[in-house]
Amino acid sequence: MKTTQPLPVSDHFSLEQLADGVYAAIHREGGGAIGNAGIVDLGGRTLIYDTFIAPRPAEDLRDAAQALTGRPVDTVINSHWHSDHIWGNQVFSQCTDILSTEETRRRIIAARDDGDYQAELAGAEADLEATRARYETAQDEGQRRELSLWIDQCQSVVEAKPILQVRAPNLTFTRRLAFHGSKRSAELIEFVGGHTQSDLVLWLPGEGIAFMGDLLFVGCHPWLGGCDPDSLPGILDAVSGLAPRVLVPGHGPVGTADSVAQMQEYVLTLDGLARAMIQRGEPEERIDGMAIPEPYNRWQITSFFAGNLRHLYRHRLREQAGQPL
Ligand SMILES: [Zn+2]
Repeated sequence: MKTTQPLPVSDHFSLEQLADGVYAAIHREGGGAIGNAGIVDLGGRTLIYDTFIAPRPAEDLRDAAQALTGRPVDTVINSHWHSDHIWGNQVFSQCTDILSTEETRRRIIAARDDGDYQAELAGAEADLEATRARYETAQDEGQRRELSLWIDQCQSVVEAKPILQVRAPNLTFTRRLAFHGSKRSAELIEFVGGHTQSDLVLWLPGEGIAFMGDLLFVGCHPWLGGCDPDSLPGILDAVSGLAPRVLVPGHGPVGTADSVAQMQEYVLTLDGLARAMIQRGEPEERIDGMAIPEPYNRWQITSFFAGNLRHLYRHRLREQAGQPL
């Protein structure tokens, strides 16, 4: 059952009610969210799943959750360590727990203290200027749309830079964690090697809704640069085994069970291309000139294609040489 109350509005994301008390926050073109997030009212407790790339959109998410449930957020979940899912953590009250797997917390702290996040921030202004210049000269409508997404991202990072304080999770677990509220139950399930070394799916069994983080992209090329191609198809199989009805991806619009199958097909297709190149003895440099095959040439974020293929090529080459993966 869904209620008909008007949903809070943000410049950064649009809210979609998936069930009574369950909302997807989907990046809005021109806004600063970049990734997607979720709000789940368990009854007596509120969960937030991911906090976007910057404090400003995260403030809108926090305020929207409070307006929808009538109380402060209890728990923020970080699906994985990437900046576009956790840099909004700081806007939540110190009474709000930030929850992740042990591995994700370890990686967030390492990226904060070893300079990885700093490196992302350092080039932000130059990236914004260069992307805007490319946008001005781009003729193709698809290319302009894609560049405008990168402009959104660069702009959001530039705005975050002076105020960003990376807040690490204060609660951790491994494998599985269940919440049992008065309205519904929810489960966090950890998968290893799908998108990063640790990714969390938030699963609502009663509604058949899965918040997937970056284990799923819809309508755009996923980022496979951190995946193990031997693990990811099995992880997607495991998600399909839950028989989800509605899936909220890390990027792109809300999807269905078909979206998982499409993502799986994408991984297998690119892995097949990488293996075939190695079999024919083709060098890695060939990837740069390669055309994106159908139907993926119609997906957004085309710039991920070459990076994904390069990652898979190197992975299969190391495997063939008996080197550590
Ligand atoms: Zn990610």
